[in-house]
Amino acid sequence: MSSALVQVGDVIAASAALASAGLGDMIWGHASVRDAEGRGVWMKAAGYGFEEVDSDRVLLVSWSGEVLAGVGRRHLEYPIHTQLYLARPDVNAIVHTHAPAFAAFASLDQVLRPLSHDAVPFTDPPLPRLTAVTGSLISTPGLGDAVADALGASNGILLPSHGAVTVGADTAAAVMYSVLLERACRTQLTALAAGGPKVWSDEQETARKRDEVWNEAQLDAGFAYLVRQGASL
Ligand SMILES: [Zn+2]
Repeated sequence: MSSALVQVGDVIAASAALASAGLGDMIWGHASVRDAEGRGVWMKAAGYGFEEVDSDRVLLVSWSGEVLAGVGRRHLEYPIHTQLYLARPDVNAIVHTHAPAFAAFASLDQVLRPLSHDAVPFTDPPLPRLTAVTGSLISTPGLGDAVADALGASNGILLPSHGAVTVGADTAAAVMYSVLLERACRTQLTALAAGGPKVWSDEQETARKRDEVWNEAQLDAGFAYLVRQGASL
């Protein structure tokens, strides 16, 4: 199979998984994979929801935002993807969504705590927030660079008044990190609403759980489950 076909398949699978996890926002939000030949990023075309992505709705977008392959319009926020790949050679897949829990949690300016398994990938380094730039669309390379700077070496970042971005070495990791981060934000919002969390895993236990609970095989298994669920939508 050609690398293009594999990467189109990865974008379709990521989109199906995000749909089944309930992370869609009508036609907004997107997942991408890095082009194996270094031409740019593969991502869904604008105007479709995650559950509507098929091989006719995936584009190859160049580093400067030109559509090199596929039919349709690119998303305005393509610089989230291009600029983060340029900044992070270890990253091969990126997810951006607008799930409401991200903006709700970001608005509280609280540190994300490992109250459950879900927050474990986001505690070392701590989950960053994009601050003092914009709560609007990340529609220019300069804004994409600002997200990359704030992300640093983390697996994800909150975009206050907007959503979140997660990154991974592969599609499974990037998608699962979005799913886990959204659940972690919801869990802490629930605890905060009930008086605030008093107990969570210490650093040692969190480090152990990072390897035990969210190793590559576990991320792959969770992702495969979500793809199967997405295929039956
Ligand atoms: Zn957005």
